[in-house]
Amino acid sequence: MPLSFKRARFATSAFELSQLPPDQGREVAFAGRSNAGKSSAINCLVRQKNLCKTSKTPGRTQLINFFALDDERRLVDLPGYGFAKVSRRMRDHWDQVLTRFLLERQALQGLVVVVDIRRGISELDRALIDMTRDHLALHLLLTKSDKLSRAGVRRAIDVARKQLGDSAHTVSALSVTHRRGLEDLERICRDWLDFS
Ligand code: GDP
Repeated sequence: MPLSFKRARFATSAFELSQLPPDQGREVAFAGRSNAGKSSAINCLVRQKNLCKTSKTPGRTQLINFFALDDERRLVDLPGYGFAKVSRRMRDHWDQVLTRFLLERQALQGLVVVVDIRRGISELDRALIDMTRDHLALHLLLTKSDKLSRAGVRRAIDVARKQLGDSAHTVSALSVTHRRGLEDLERICRDWLDFS
């Protein structure tokens, strides 16, 4: 049977680095502000409605969730950031855990940063992009593209490309509701996961 994103299954959750699964195989991680559309994008990619819980309470998902595609490949859902009601202590905890995960995880092949296309790159997104610049391949996913006209989507992609500068980072737009742009996201993830 050919490998497929549809086969994604919940594997494990981690609150601390000690709870991470063994650092082997290949992983692609998804990060973004709360409510950016990260869970919806992952569900769209794996063609499942509820693999990744979308929530009406931004910031509720405060675990690193691993979804296995097969024995060697995983998608990783990182906690959403930028939710004001998270305590200082919890913010510090996740700053530390995420920094180490993103900079030290050997299995991690690339990071998808999910951004609401109407909001563009925020300061927190920027901090994440800068932090990983020399360590990780990065794809900027502009979600909710159905909220803009086609010209608006093109403009937003251009602006984001300029903001990323001359890095090798890539940009694409996605509409989960119209299923537009899914093939671009899928191609990037397949490449990183060596998933043919
Ligand atoms: P997360 O907090 O980043 O995981 O965001 P969610 O995936 O829970 O999405 C936040 C809100 O945006 C939800 O109400 C989704 O239905 C909505 N949403 C996500 N993706 C899209 C999209 O492509 N188009 C539209 N119109 N709404 C979207």
